[in-house]
Amino acid sequence: MSSLASPFSLADVYRARQRLAGRVAHTPLVASASLAERADAPVYLKLETVQPTGSFKLRGATNALAELAGQGVTRVVTASTGNHGRAVAHAARALGIEAAVCMSSLVPENKVLAVAALGARVVITGKSQDDAQLEAQRLVREEGYAFVPPFDDPRVIAGQATIGVEILEALPDAATLVVPLSGGGLFSGVAFAAKAIRPDVAMIGVSMERGAAMHASLAAGEPVLVDELETLADSLGGGIGLDNRHTFAMTRELIDDVVLLDEASIARGIVHAYREERLVVEGAAAVGIAALLDSRIARRDGPIVVVISGANIDIALHQRIVSEHH
Ligand SMILES: *Cc1c(COP(=O)(O)O)cnc(C)c1O
Repeated sequence: MSSLASPFSLADVYRARQRLAGRVAHTPLVASASLAERADAPVYLKLETVQPTGSFKLRGATNALAELAGQGVTRVVTASTGNHGRAVAHAARALGIEAAVCMSSLVPENKVLAVAALGARVVITGKSQDDAQLEAQRLVREEGYAFVPPFDDPRVIAGQATIGVEILEALPDAATLVVPLSGGGLFSGVAFAAKAIRPDVAMIGVSMERGAAMHASLAAGEPVLVDELETLADSLGGGIGLDNRHTFAMTRELIDDVVLLDEASIARGIVHAYREERLVVEGAAAVGIAALLDSRIARRDGPIVVVISGANIDIALHQRIVSEHH
């Protein structure tokens, strides 16, 4: 894998894993009988839903903040659709440093409250992820904070990559990994580690049709802007950054297929997770299950692993979705 345009090595991923030990959950990998039957192959779910903040983002945030704290940094800031902000707040508190979190007014209230409850300074600004980003940059310029990006950062990507290591250790013959795809920190991290360990593993990224910035950028051959639209997969919203430095190149090199899903399909994924797997998952985390249910994952020999990326869905919304689908 030495030809890969990665800003870190597999050794960095193993170092990240040591840094995360005791701070972040080594999450369960559980077999799904109902999905195996539909896929006609063994299917396993990697449950990032059990992380203390309810999503995998705690891995990347903890890795980045541990490195920064080691360099003497005492204040960090981020702009986030929710789960990254929550992760930064949690990691900052655990490491004894200060966190500020900038978010747009589109972020669901449950996520805003969760960040505030973790003791972070919450800054609500504008109507898009880009507005929140500008405010975070202002805090860096004017108030001396260190910025922690949600995905386009080698330390963050290396943290998410520990998921790939855990999967391949538990299931060395995993043939296909299905990963939610937004800014690509999760995807490129998991894909980098998985392909470094097992080069012939197939890496499938799944996004929603409504505002799939990475898919549009891959199609254009460079980072492009897309309209930010409301979607059940709200944690997959937002752009990849026109000045993207790492995740676009890594995703382009490591991805074998991209699947885009409509809202009804994402809802079916949430409902299946609840009824058949007894899991509460958010829309962004349901996309892998939905892609399997819709037979959108190309058939290959060997086990399929679906990364279930987070649990942070508004409970009233979850109840409505489950009660509307029979
Ligand atoms: C952030 C997030 C994703 C997407 O991760 P990227 O690194 O931005 O691609 C997927 N699922 C959940 C629950 C998330 O919070």
